[in-house]
Amino acid sequence: MAKNKQKQPPTDNKFQAIISHCKEYGFIFPSSEIYDGLQAVYDYGQMGSELKKNIKDYWWKSMTQLADENIVGIDAAIFMHPTTWKASGHVDNFNDPMIDNKDSKKRYRVDHLIEEYAAALSAEGKENEAAALLASMETLLAKDDFTGLKKMIDDNKMQCAVSHTCNWTEIRQFNLMFSTEFGTAVSSEEGNNIVYLRPETAQGIFVNFLNVQKTGRLKIPFGIAQIGKAFRNEIVARQFVFRMREFEQMEMQFFVRPGTQKEWYEKWKAKRMQWHESLGMPAAKYRFHDHVKLAHYADAACDIEYEFPIGFKELEGIHSRTDFDLQQHQQYSKKKMQYFDNDLNPETGKPYGNYIPYVIETSIGLDRMFLAVISQAYEEQDLSLPAGEAGTEEKKDSRVVLKLPPVLAPIKLAVLPLTKKDGLPAIAEEIIQACKPHFRCFYEEKDSIGKRYRRMDALGTPYCVTVDHQTKEDQTVTIRHRDSMEQERVPIDSLREIVMAGL
Ligand code: ATP
Repeated sequence: MAKNKQKQPPTDNKFQAIISHCKEYGFIFPSSEIYDGLQAVYDYGQMGSELKKNIKDYWWKSMTQLADENIVGIDAAIFMHPTTWKASGHVDNFNDPMIDNKDSKKRYRVDHLIEEYAAALSAEGKENEAAALLASMETLLAKDDFTGLKKMIDDNKMQCAVSHTCNWTEIRQFNLMFSTEFGTAVSSEEGNNIVYLRPETAQGIFVNFLNVQKTGRLKIPFGIAQIGKAFRNEIVARQFVFRMREFEQMEMQFFVRPGTQKEWYEKWKAKRMQWHESLGMPAAKYRFHDHVKLAHYADAACDIEYEFPIGFKELEGIHSRTDFDLQQHQQYSKKKMQYFDNDLNPETGKPYGNYIPYVIETSIGLDRMFLAVISQAYEEQDLSLPAGEAGTEEKKDSRVVLKLPPVLAPIKLAVLPLTKKDGLPAIAEEIIQACKPHFRCFYEEKDSIGKRYRRMDALGTPYCVTVDHQTKEDQTVTIRHRDSMEQERVPIDSLREIVMAGL
């Protein structure tokens, strides 16, 4: 029997299929769609906002409440004093080199243009040439050698995907921060009412480091976690929620004694990978990518990459940021950012004393995690039954199922009365009343049971129960498991426990 056969569309199609699925089932809509949308900005719908919130809660709980280390949370404002961004290096360094095609007017990030060209070379079997090209690109980028990069683009006759010409402008730096204006002056500098929309949440943690440490009486090592919006004026933004101009980050800065950063960096690499695996995400879909070109603030850095339908790409960054940020804020604010460590240094027998802590950062994009989770969960299954020996005809059937981890699923339990009559809806309502304080339930009485099951599969609901006439006799219902599609008869009283066991 060809039951439950998995049919996965080719990767490009799979990405498109996921985007369509997200729209059709209320997960993600283009922002202000009635005005034709806004590039690289998206709205989460009734299902998407639940799934996103569940990812947030899962991260928050494991990084604070359940963490072995002492980690507390904060919620800093999006607007920060503009000097923050001077001190952090974002005003001067948060740039991407870009180039425009003069014929199509299309703008490219220089590294993306070269990477796409290298990928095409690889596809033609010229792997060595592609690798050499990428290696020299890394070297040129590290030196900000725009003349060299432009020469590389010209010498290789790299073409614009739209105009197919090689008619390029010079390469320019493009700052990725959005700015806006306050009604009043915020600093004594020129353009003194300009403020930025934060391009990362980390700085809200750094500037509050001593506030939190002192009021929380925290001892090093400890962490500060935060979830919040970040904004980047991305040049190329056409990969759905993978690269957005407004997105959300879940970041944790872990403050350690100088000299212990390497050890903590390795620990956090392992811990963060375990977090992904704890959600049932397969290890084979993950890999570490160590940075060769380190950001101005880091002494070690890597990405956790996930194999999205568009290939292996960065999902999370783990950075050993040294004491760079706190040093910078100390210098620009003229406020001490020191911590007094009264633990005894075994080498000197005296307290470690005053120092500026070192920082390990774990930074994951919530929207990218959403995309990873939904890509992992999305499955198209062929459920057709072949023609039977007794001459019965082949029965075509299929379903799209989101095999979401139950803890993340927007709806945990759907309650479906078999008919709208005979008191069955009232029993369904009672079940919902008993369960809804504990988890999200959903009621549906329209359409055949089969159609209702399919709809719940497409939303990733792990359990459906059907209330039928037998329920009235013996207080049992049929529970159907999303992944196996198996059904069993269970007492109404056991439902809560069954569902909670998977959360
Ligand atoms: P990329 O190289 O893909 O631009 P990045 O290295 O600039 O990413 P970080 O500054 O390390 O990213 O940000 C931490 C995390 O924030 C990333 O791992 C990613 O998950 C998320 N993130 C960064 N930029 C975006 C974006 N434009 N849209 C959605 N998520 C993003």
